[in-house]
Amino acid sequence: MKRFRQATLAIMIGSLAAINSSSAIALDNLPDLGAPDLVEYDRQTEERLGRAFTESLMTQFDLQEDPEILNYIRQIGYKIAGNSGQNRNFDFYVIRNNTINAFAGPNGVIGVHTGLIETVHSESELASVIAHEIAHVTQQHLSRTYEYNSTQGSITSFATLLAAVLVGIYNPNAGMAALMGGMGMNMQDQLKNSRQHEQEADNVGIQILHESGYDPHAMGDFFGRLAKSSQFNAHQVPEILRTHPVTLSRLAAAENRAQVMPPLKVPVESNDLILIKMRIAAEKEDFSKLEIKSLTASEQCYLHNLQELNRKQTEKQLRQSRAQLDCLLREASENTMQPLYNTLLIERIKQFKERNSNADLKQPISEALKLISYQQELWPNNLAVQLRHAQLLELTGEYQKAMQVLADGSEKGHNQYQINNYLAQFAREQNKEALANYYQARAQVFVGNYARARHFIDEAKRINNQRNEGIDKQIDFFNAKYTQNLQENDQKEVIQ
Ligand SMILES: [Zn+2]
Repeated sequence: MKRFRQATLAIMIGSLAAINSSSAIALDNLPDLGAPDLVEYDRQTEERLGRAFTESLMTQFDLQEDPEILNYIRQIGYKIAGNSGQNRNFDFYVIRNNTINAFAGPNGVIGVHTGLIETVHSESELASVIAHEIAHVTQQHLSRTYEYNSTQGSITSFATLLAAVLVGIYNPNAGMAALMGGMGMNMQDQLKNSRQHEQEADNVGIQILHESGYDPHAMGDFFGRLAKSSQFNAHQVPEILRTHPVTLSRLAAAENRAQVMPPLKVPVESNDLILIKMRIAAEKEDFSKLEIKSLTASEQCYLHNLQELNRKQTEKQLRQSRAQLDCLLREASENTMQPLYNTLLIERIKQFKERNSNADLKQPISEALKLISYQQELWPNNLAVQLRHAQLLELTGEYQKAMQVLADGSEKGHNQYQINNYLAQFAREQNKEALANYYQARAQVFVGNYARARHFIDEAKRINNQRNEGIDKQIDFFNAKYTQNLQENDQKEVIQ
């Protein structure tokens, strides 16, 4: 194995060396763009930048909200972040976009494009990119490369520009085009990580990747393969290689570092990646990147049910697709430790119920409920398990229990923004408008948008006074708890 890896690396280096030096993939003659280290941001500036950056991601880009996909990335991200040796803030987002990219923004905000998830060959490769980004954060590369000061405009416009450059998709609205014109191009150059920063992110990243139970060779494998596959076409360089240039010495150093790692004590690689790829493919109804022939019977069952879920079906077709549900019921019961089967089963049950189908769902409902209660106990922070559990309870008429399941996760864990938004949706479905606004206010607090939180809590109060939904206490408590933040924002720009 060891020898094989060295041999492939040697071949790869040989072919990379043949590339003309004007190619976009930099070789060892890469100019070191990492300017002398700049002053690091103070904590407060970093937090403000992080909030504005998140706001920009949420308003300017197409964020993936599928709880299964989001949960998958967060679960990998927090596992690795937990081994980074730093007790600091991290947030993980998925951008719905076909380009191969991942980035580390200010204050530990990390983004992964769906195109990256579709391209990796293993969960370890995906984890390796996330570990590399986490390392850029812990080593404070962004703040050491690009210093923010108030002469560059407001924090909001700076963060918007930063997001545009890092995400690499330019929202063609007029404001952003103007921003991109002057300062943007300059920033684009500066944000390219230097050779030294890349090496450091690899070193630290491979270490924490390994400590988290993933294959330490995955980072070199992935970046090497990307560089190789794009070497003949300078116009199709994956976005990620523009900000994280691959050099021969970088690949060799990554491989050397991985070689000296002891064997993994407890490998953590799951079988979820292929199912997550299916969900991405199903959303855009393009399965061309999936290797359908190599799917196991369980995975095929997952795929068929996913396709049934997304298909606009006639009554008759839906009745016929009841047979698929039985295979999923079997898979969910057999793969209790892989809750993706059960959460899809619940989505399918919901589909039948919403279409007022008269199919007999007694057995699937009781089995799914038994499984999901168990899974929720095992993984209390799994966003998909929480939402699907609540949805199933709502379907069976247990609204209060459904709200309780979500409320349990709404004040702790990493998904508070999403869970409070789910609570708002559930409240709205029950025609509880004041309560819905109250939960929306809470959701905004978790992404630091106090201007919007203020708007929603005022709405909650107004509607509650009119309709008396009986949530006075919650509103007063909310206002008391966040008085300072809600007032602080009075002077700042109000976000629409
Ligand atoms: Zn990098």
